[in-house]
Amino acid sequence: MTYPRTERQAELMAVADRLAARFAETAALYDRTGDFPFAHFAALHETGYLALTVPEEYGGRGATPLELALAQERLAHGCAATALGATMHLTVMAIQGETRTWPEEAYARVCRDVVERGALINSIHSEPDMGSPSRGALPSTTAVRTTNGWVLNGHKRWASLAPGLTYADVLAAVSDGDEPPRRGNFLVPMDLAGITIEETWDNLGMRATASHDVIFTDVQVPAEALLPATTRSVPGGNSGWGLFPVPAVYLGVAYAARNATITFAQERVPNGMSGPIAELQTVQHRIAEMELLFWQARTVFYDVAERWVADPAARPGMAWEAAAAKHVVTNNVMRITDLALRVAGSAALSRALPLERYFRDARAGLGHPPMDDVALTTIGKHALGLDGERR
Ligand SMILES: Cc1cc2nc3c(=O)[nH]c(=O)nc-3n(C[C@H](O)[C@H](O)[C@H](O)COP(=O)(O)OP(=O)(O)OC[C@H]3O[C@@H](n4cnc5c(N)ncnc54)[C@H](O)[C@@H]3O)c2cc1C
Repeated sequence: MTYPRTERQAELMAVADRLAARFAETAALYDRTGDFPFAHFAALHETGYLALTVPEEYGGRGATPLELALAQERLAHGCAATALGATMHLTVMAIQGETRTWPEEAYARVCRDVVERGALINSIHSEPDMGSPSRGALPSTTAVRTTNGWVLNGHKRWASLAPGLTYADVLAAVSDGDEPPRRGNFLVPMDLAGITIEETWDNLGMRATASHDVIFTDVQVPAEALLPATTRSVPGGNSGWGLFPVPAVYLGVAYAARNATITFAQERVPNGMSGPIAELQTVQHRIAEMELLFWQARTVFYDVAERWVADPAARPGMAWEAAAAKHVVTNNVMRITDLALRVAGSAALSRALPLERYFRDARAGLGHPPMDDVALTTIGKHALGLDGERR
């Protein structure tokens, strides 16, 4: 799939390219320390990138899921962790820009903060007890009604961007009178008393997302912090915000790995050879395999994303294709980054090269919904005619 195809795509991809070139210089440092890359996010704010999915009426660019995926793929060439963290923020803003379920005053305030001062927002839903919220369980975090509003208590895990967050969408079990507890989402300013970050994120990959634990201890929020429930008829949101920007980041990891591997193969001349290892057939075959895997992943991904964005009526029947796109991207990217290490040999295990970072970052792709088992069930049920969709 060849992009850009529109002037807007070209503009957004060029901005992402410039930022990626800057971030590439410091990505390894943040990966090593695990520090949150405040400087990267300041640059994203300066260029208006953090407002890409804020609607134009509120000063943003109103990007589509396809435009965002194209930009995020490019941004990830430089620093995948920054791109993944930015994706979380941009996706929350995007979904709200489309559904407009929050009270307008709250939404306008968040948009203003994003546009004017680079505020960050993310969904902090996952928990040590519950694991992934995508499995449908009730969270252990509780929201109990008080005379003034709600009091939140709980322990969240995998909260990407935690040190930089201005706002969070917090998933809790809502207890309201005699009604059985139910899931509810709260818009929470992260500077409230009782919110603490536990710096637990010391991970294999995507280290600079700083996805630490967040503890809520008797956090008082007003009644209107409880957000109206959203109805999504298809997984990942009707427009595909939850389906496409995250896998695009992993495509970016694969492309960075491919390029770094090709450069290595062209430049590495061992004493026992008269030319570079690129002349070896084993290297050519491994590079070819990387190329095939990348081509397949990117073609499937953008084919599905394009059709999803273009035809809202077709989306319910495309759930299996969206799951397939995420599955193909995640697994092909892991294989590509593994092949990169095989081409470069033991030098690739050193932090002097970026290949081991790409390998580690790629592995985190399995942790985003739809997880592989869910994707395979969705695809299998469709093939077997068990998903209720016309075929
Ligand atoms: C880099 C990164 C960033 C993230 N950022 C965020 C974020 O900002 N906000 C956020 O809320 N979350 C975030 N997450 C968390 C993510 O969405 C998942 O909640 C998290 O990865 C835990 O998922 P899990 O499947 O491993 O956990 P668990 O649900 O504990 O599952 C453990 C294992 O059991 C399997 N399993 C569990 N339940 C079932 C079941 N019912 N049926 C079949 N198999 C099951 C899983 O597949 C897995 O292999 C992030 C994750 C990563 C990797």
